[in-house]
Amino acid sequence: MGDLKSALPVVLDLTGRLVVAVGGGPVSARRVRSFLDEGAVVRVVAPWLCEDLRDLAHAGRVEWLERDYAGPGDLDGAWFAHTATGESSVDREVAADAESLRVWCVDATDSTGTTASVTARADVTTPDGRVTVSAYAAGDPGLSVTVRDGVERALVSGALDLRRTRPRTGPSSTGDGWVALVGGGPGTDGLLTARGHELLASADVVVVDRLAPRAVVDRLPASVRVIDVGKTPGHHPVPQSGINGILVEEAQRGHGVVRLKGGDPFVLGRGGEERDACEAHGIPVEVVPGVTSAVSVPAAAGIPVTHRGVARGFTVVTGHEDIPVLPTGGDHTLVLLMAVNGLRWTTTLLRKNGRSADCPVAIVERGFAPDQRVTVGTLETIADLAVGRAVESPAVVVVGDVVRLGPDWRAAH
Ligand code: SAH
Repeated sequence: MGDLKSALPVVLDLTGRLVVAVGGGPVSARRVRSFLDEGAVVRVVAPWLCEDLRDLAHAGRVEWLERDYAGPGDLDGAWFAHTATGESSVDREVAADAESLRVWCVDATDSTGTTASVTARADVTTPDGRVTVSAYAAGDPGLSVTVRDGVERALVSGALDLRRTRPRTGPSSTGDGWVALVGGGPGTDGLLTARGHELLASADVVVVDRLAPRAVVDRLPASVRVIDVGKTPGHHPVPQSGINGILVEEAQRGHGVVRLKGGDPFVLGRGGEERDACEAHGIPVEVVPGVTSAVSVPAAAGIPVTHRGVARGFTVVTGHEDIPVLPTGGDHTLVLLMAVNGLRWTTTLLRKNGRSADCPVAIVERGFAPDQRVTVGTLETIADLAVGRAVESPAVVVVGDVVRLGPDWRAAH
């Protein structure tokens, strides 16, 4: 199988330039779309068009010469030509005419006669702009696709460190800093999203919480500045206004800033305030959702927050103000965050407001960590059990009949 004798990779700016596509089938249609995406002016020469191309022609997005290819005149004014007629004699003729006019031409059906070849391509949006990946393996389009996919995966997974290519020092007058509020999930790497990993591979500064996934932070290269706002040496967390200030200042210095938070940024995480603070200073902010502990930590203990025939809904709360208005049936699951310290008062309030004393309760400490621990009881017994077992934060408290579905309840009853 032959192919281009020499293959210099280039990118072409087709904006406003004429591309002639000969042939009206699906291969032509796919390529015409990509020429249009790049802003080209497209002329299609073909006696008939497949549906995709017909739509483009009817919408006036391409010029259609509704006939067979009629010689070099059809290529008049073209910067680039593409032929995919399915008739090798016609494709050869188009390629030969293009050659004599010195117009680069892709012959989609004959890899030996072509003067240009399209590559396997992917576009990846990084925080610093679009990257086009283009792969070409002579005579083996399948290999091109495999390589393209591999590079794309490395980019979107964060396996490729993008920091090296980006100027990082000094104040930026162009203001190209950015902030991403990234939900880190409940603490384990595997539950951080691909987009989260990708942004971490571009960040200059990472601002972390106590409950953000530590292993991810530990793997960051030494050049990345990690600011821990969850705990300072004196054990005082940085106040929210201070965190907002750090995000804004670092971005204004032209840095890419990832604010890595536990769980989801918008679930009891003050992510909305951080976004507003950045936007108030005109800083671009991306919010990347995370796997919230409210749902995933019960799951880590084998407890589904809803289950057919057991519970149809759930409420996530912290604090006590909301308790009087919550549903009281065991078929409505309550998920309590930041609830360890106030547990006795919470359980008392729940009972006063109508939950039954024997409603099952589970406390899941350090969800997904190797030393995760689950304590099960009822509204009546759980506060004493928690004291007896020295239960500590971080923990998620689950109240409702779904607790019976987990292995710990089964083992205890
Ligand atoms: N935005 C976070 C919640 C922040 S509030 C989210 O969506 O998950 C902090 C509370 O989350 C903790 O007090 C605890 O109740 C809970 N939490 C977070 N991670 C946890 C974990 N790995 N195990 C148990 N509880 C956790």
